[in-house]
Amino acid sequence: MKNEIFKDTEQFKREYRRMVESEVGKGFDEADDHERFAALCKLVAFRARAIHVRNDNAIEAQRKKRVFYFSLEFLIGPLLENYLLNLGILDTVSEGLAEMGTSLEAVSSCEVDPGLGNGGLGRLAACFLDSMAHEGIAGYGNGMRYRYGLFRQVIKDGRQVEETDNWLAKGYPWEVRRPESAVPVTFGGEVVRHEEDGRYWFTLEGGETVNAVPYDIPVVGYGGNTVNKLRVWAAEPVEERFDLDAFNEGAYADASKFRTDVEAISTILYPNDAGEHGRILRLKQEYLFVAAGIGSIMRTFKREHTGADGTVDWAAFPEAVAIHTNDTHPAMCGAELLRVLVDEEGLDYDTAWGIVTRSISYTNHTVLPEALEKWPIDVFRRLLPRIYMWIEEIDRRYREDFMVEHGDRMDLLRDTAILWDGQVRMANLSIICSHSVNGVAKIHTDILEREVLKDFYELTPEKFNNKTNGISFRRFLGNANPSYSRLITDAIGDGWLDDASELKRLEAFSADPVFLDAMADSKRLNKERLARYVREQTGVELDCDSVFDVQVKRFHAYKRQLLNIFKVMDVYNRIVADPSYRPRPTSFIFSGKAAQSYTYAKEVIRLINSVADVVNNDPRANEMIKVAFIPNFSVGNAELIYPAAEISEQISTAGMEASGTSNMKLMANGAITLGTLDGANVEIAQLAGRENIEIFGLEVADVEGYKSRGDYFAWDEYNRDRDRLGRVVDELVDGTFARLSGDFSLIHDGLMHQNDADFVLKDFRPYVSAWEHLGEVYGDRRRWNRMALANTANSGFFSSDRTIREYAEDIWHV
Ligand SMILES: *Cc1c(COP(=O)(O)O)cnc(C)c1O
Repeated sequence: MKNEIFKDTEQFKREYRRMVESEVGKGFDEADDHERFAALCKLVAFRARAIHVRNDNAIEAQRKKRVFYFSLEFLIGPLLENYLLNLGILDTVSEGLAEMGTSLEAVSSCEVDPGLGNGGLGRLAACFLDSMAHEGIAGYGNGMRYRYGLFRQVIKDGRQVEETDNWLAKGYPWEVRRPESAVPVTFGGEVVRHEEDGRYWFTLEGGETVNAVPYDIPVVGYGGNTVNKLRVWAAEPVEERFDLDAFNEGAYADASKFRTDVEAISTILYPNDAGEHGRILRLKQEYLFVAAGIGSIMRTFKREHTGADGTVDWAAFPEAVAIHTNDTHPAMCGAELLRVLVDEEGLDYDTAWGIVTRSISYTNHTVLPEALEKWPIDVFRRLLPRIYMWIEEIDRRYREDFMVEHGDRMDLLRDTAILWDGQVRMANLSIICSHSVNGVAKIHTDILEREVLKDFYELTPEKFNNKTNGISFRRFLGNANPSYSRLITDAIGDGWLDDASELKRLEAFSADPVFLDAMADSKRLNKERLARYVREQTGVELDCDSVFDVQVKRFHAYKRQLLNIFKVMDVYNRIVADPSYRPRPTSFIFSGKAAQSYTYAKEVIRLINSVADVVNNDPRANEMIKVAFIPNFSVGNAELIYPAAEISEQISTAGMEASGTSNMKLMANGAITLGTLDGANVEIAQLAGRENIEIFGLEVADVEGYKSRGDYFAWDEYNRDRDRLGRVVDELVDGTFARLSGDFSLIHDGLMHQNDADFVLKDFRPYVSAWEHLGEVYGDRRRWNRMALANTANSGFFSSDRTIREYAEDIWHV
């Protein structure tokens, strides 16, 4: 790869010193680490924007299609090291900093995780940005700029405590505010009908207009040839309406109330997984980023497609623009585009509708029917009266066409109409406005077609397709695991950073003892690095000779962290009861946040910490097992955790995890999956080979069978296995783990009185046996390392570059 950014280390140091002086107003030696960090970002961003401007001009000149990826979340993580790698200047900068008496680590550790996403869905959007830039696609993220992230998780007495995530406290060096590109967005108001010469039209009168102000963050593609941008929107008052009278009377809060009310729209990121739907502020967020994004697209399109006579070539729109909607949060894109095209640009409905359905596409992320987003019509109509009318019109025409074509199938209409039972069904709106609907792993798409969206599938099978998720290998292997990356690059060259399928060539080393030993050394290094972090964060001392068994992800009942901690409780019980029992020494590592309002998930976190407290303070058990809960899971510490993992816990109830992506990141880093046949685990098993992964438990058909027959009984499972499973269940309420902050009756109730909806009891024994089998295999280190290598070598399919190429070809046509 050409390095055009800096000729050599000397040039870098010169420019960097100058940047520190101009940005910070101090000499380099006087600047602190954070100032040095901010200046380095500015220098990189400055260079990146120059490339972006060049790209932009080329796109305009070549009439290249643009892709807009609408997502309410982008979990981008720290950017500096990733951008240095992508620009090909990681070594230059690293050496330069060392020569200047500091280190890349000291500088880059100042970077915070932007609070712009929750978990998997937001991280996927971030990996897609990286891959669109790598693939040379003109792809732009469109999202929200939240003032505060979800929360910073701290653990007190075993409990999750939520603290404000003030990620912008020291400023964010990557972003540039673009007030000149602000878009006015109106909420509320009244729709007024006008008529003249038999023609009629509507306008929206009154209401409250706020300014959506964009902040642009550069997205640097690997190879350094393409730089795109992520545009996130913040709500601001259109004009300053400061109440001087109130202020002079001492009512300071009242004086700036207007500003505060408006800014509330972009103040906080909502959790995406815990019944937070229905909040009016959330609906405002959804409309704000949709309307602002569409407004911004329109401006660019009109600038580029207005002829000399002033007419706009609207027919070119679907060839120039693809609008992708990540989940249903941007579902209003279709209605908003219609509103602009008809109300503002004067197109007729049919032309406008053709543009909508040829431009928009939709990704579904869930198999839970109850998780599909819905809004009460009265709330919706009051907040967005004109958009609601457009949705009504889309729904009316959908029903009309339906009656003509499928009048005998009223059963299908009930499930596919947009407005039903006083609610706006956002998934149905998304599907009807889109030319493509995709799931995120093979098994997930199958379930959509067969169950969740079966009526739509029956009506329009051609819309449906699968796009198995992917991850950025550059970030999660290249940046996160330098020792393994070096080993891989020494063996097969660095082509894998550009094309992860090259990793397949590692198979040639599967019988090479020198390579396998080097792999083991690298894993050891990563375990020591994580152990240091765990000691700093929690005080727990991990034994680096033990197996690192890792489950890190959001806490959710279906992800079954409970099953995992039950296994730990069982192993502990056996250690206590039987002096001859010697399990494979293991460090059980957990991390993840639970939504603030999700009491059950928070109780599971408390249980894990309570078990950790008992196990870690039992000297005899400690010779074999330790439990660590790493607080505040985020992209930053994820990059320390994945490379150190040896067992990857992917144990969701079959049929519940749409895809998962941590399973892919862990596979790439040579961890062996211990999992159910769910989400992308199914494809991992196929690619790695069943001999290189440990599968256990109920399958989708089994779960569906129990659910439809209603013949699963938690008490039967309990009674059948009183000694081990029964014991663990009893320990939830008998004080065994109550020392920190009490017993766990809520969890006990969920299992024994609400009949264990997630089949934890059913899968318990098969799961523990599968784990024990992995422990035996681990005894043969050669074999284990071969399995680990097979996982890395076959993980290339899960590159988000591959996923994005499929979206580009099949959906966006770019
Ligand atoms: C990859 C990732 C996730 C998604 O994990 P799953 O196990 O697929 O749910 C969540 N959070 C962070 C920080 C990640 O990097």
